[in-house]
Amino acid sequence: MEFEGIKNTLKKHGFKVSCFRNKEEASAYLNKQIDGKSVGFGGSVTTKQMGLYDSLGTHNEVVWHWVIPEGIDKKEWLAKAMTTDVYIASANALASTGEIINIDGAGNRVSSLVFGHDKVYYLIGRNKIADNYDEAILRARNTAAPMNSKRLGRKTPCAIKGDRCFDCNSPERICRTMTVTWRPTKGVDTEVVLVDEDLGF
Ligand code: SF4
Repeated sequence: MEFEGIKNTLKKHGFKVSCFRNKEEASAYLNKQIDGKSVGFGGSVTTKQMGLYDSLGTHNEVVWHWVIPEGIDKKEWLAKAMTTDVYIASANALASTGEIINIDGAGNRVSSLVFGHDKVYYLIGRNKIADNYDEAILRARNTAAPMNSKRLGRKTPCAIKGDRCFDCNSPERICRTMTVTWRPTKGVDTEVVLVDEDLGF
């Protein structure tokens, strides 16, 4: 996939951008960039597919609520991930016009992506890129969220029918807040890592 256009748009908007052919190259880059830091992760299939918790964990302090050490309370671990030097997550969609869309249930991921860390990395596979802002919102709501609901085994109409968002009122609804990141938030060094592979949902 040609990343040149979106790369230039994101750079014009103040993001750092790096592009890779595959997740192995992206992972090697991140392991060079992040060393001796505390690193928090958002819930992210992309991160899992890249094996970053394990590789970065060999030379950084890593905190992820998908891997909670025995005896630690989940809430405490979620809070700890919000105070690390570096934060890593993906996006539910990236518009070619530069907007980054994320939908969250607990809000830990979206809040950490915009505040509280020196450095934030968005890891984004080519499958997350939409033609424009409206398409990106549609993707986040009708593709990413239903797939995540299904992955989490939620009893929501999207997980059962698997085709689209029903804007449900289910108590198990995972879509409770949505962020649109237009520009890096003040004081946060924000880098978009584009990978020319399908990653996550
Ligand atoms: S709002 Fe409900 S139906 Fe729509 S994607 Fe989220 S959980 Fe599924």
